[in-house]
Amino acid sequence: MKFDTVIIGGGLSGLTCGIRLLQQGQRCVIVSSGQSALHFSSGSFDLLNALPDGRIVTDPLASVKDLVRMSPGHPYAKLGECKFRELAGESESFLSGIGLSIQGGATENHYRITPMGTLKPTWLSAPDFAVCKSESKLPWKKVSIFNIAGFLDFYPQFIAGEFARMGTKSDIHLFSLPGLDHLRRNPSELRSTNIARILDQESNRDELTGILSKAAADSDAIIFPACIGLKNTNMLAESRKAINKPVYLIPTLPPSVTGIHTQRYMHDYFVRLGGVYMLGDTVKKADMENGRVTRIYSCNHGDIPFIAENTVLATGSYFSQGLIATGSRIYEPVFNLDVAYAPARQDWYSRNMFDSQNYLAFGVKTNESFNALHGGKVLENLYVSGAVLEGFNPVKEGSGAGVSILSALYIADKIISKEGERR
Ligand SMILES: Cc1cc2nc3c(=O)[nH]c(=O)nc-3n(C[C@H](O)[C@H](O)[C@H](O)COP(=O)(O)OP(=O)(O)OC[C@H]3O[C@@H](n4cnc5c(N)ncnc54)[C@H](O)[C@@H]3O)c2cc1C
Repeated sequence: MKFDTVIIGGGLSGLTCGIRLLQQGQRCVIVSSGQSALHFSSGSFDLLNALPDGRIVTDPLASVKDLVRMSPGHPYAKLGECKFRELAGESESFLSGIGLSIQGGATENHYRITPMGTLKPTWLSAPDFAVCKSESKLPWKKVSIFNIAGFLDFYPQFIAGEFARMGTKSDIHLFSLPGLDHLRRNPSELRSTNIARILDQESNRDELTGILSKAAADSDAIIFPACIGLKNTNMLAESRKAINKPVYLIPTLPPSVTGIHTQRYMHDYFVRLGGVYMLGDTVKKADMENGRVTRIYSCNHGDIPFIAENTVLATGSYFSQGLIATGSRIYEPVFNLDVAYAPARQDWYSRNMFDSQNYLAFGVKTNESFNALHGGKVLENLYVSGAVLEGFNPVKEGSGAGVSILSALYIADKIISKEGERR
């Protein structure tokens, strides 16, 4: 099977890279084992929320110079300040260009509301999310918080408590719809994605709108769990119009309806552009000759190899098995690439789970152009993007999606310009 580029891993990073390559006329395949981090994400994308010394970042574009100074091995340092700024802007136009609506921007982080009602800085959020500019004050005097009766992955009381601390009053309403009854018979069925399948149905719109408008008559805004918009993103906009009041979403505990919507949307876009997406297949090994990857083998295709000019490794971190940790080592399972990690296991983690965890910054070593290293040598046609990369801590810094998108766009552009030079 011959392609211009094979991408291993179809999460945020692999899909961004794949779509960009297809837009430039490449023939591209994504081989992906399964679900990505998007399925469990907040639904917001972080670019840079804090520096390694703990200082909070309000303007990522301005603070990147401090990051580069403090963390020279960081993926953003490999890009360099100028390229980082350029790619942050391009990421926003890339996402809106493919039709993914977003709010926010790289010159000023905004605050999203967590499932517990606290505020967290972030870069881009889904357009329906409740967000604010201030870290301590919400833009509403009074809100009505809704939850589905029996849904345990959303906490209106905690949210109302946090809102009260910030001076916003709340009332709480539980509701149900006939379509949700059969889910409620088994508590494990009453999950965000199953609820969204019901709430997304046009036939439920009028009843839902009636419930919201009646109960929220004296509120400035309605707060609703992000259990809607899995397939049908119009429902909320239509309800909002009918009620004539803002309706905002707050993320629930996973699975993330907003994240899954993004994953599916990007997958469908990739396929519409002519990309081949092989879901449920795992790349197992590859042949390498003279510093190049020559053939790639997957579980489903046995000894029929994928052959491509370039390969992108976007297999994610431990969570997606792009990195494997044993008792004594951390390794990359497809190519056995060089991985940066502390040799002594006690240096991998802190027993206090709220401390910064070193293992989160371990990852595949690359050169400045994100080419993988194998036995200390550069593989000139194997690029590494996203969460599997070394040198950044997505939790402490709040940089997860930013690294995934920016590295993917950088690599895609690198591949395209290399191809241009070859011709
Ligand atoms: C639970 C969780 C929640 C997060 N929430 C947020 C958030 O809210 N905001 C934020 O900014 N960042 C968040 N992050 C950080 C996150 O890592 C990035 O935002 C980003 O989504 C990672 O994308 P990725 O494509 O690099 O990796 P992933 O999303 O992990 O995708 C890797 C893909 O590769 C596939 N794969 C792995 N090995 C193979 C193989 N051998 N062959 C074929 N396929 C393979 C996996 O099945 C998976 O689909 C979160 C991370 C985790 C783990």
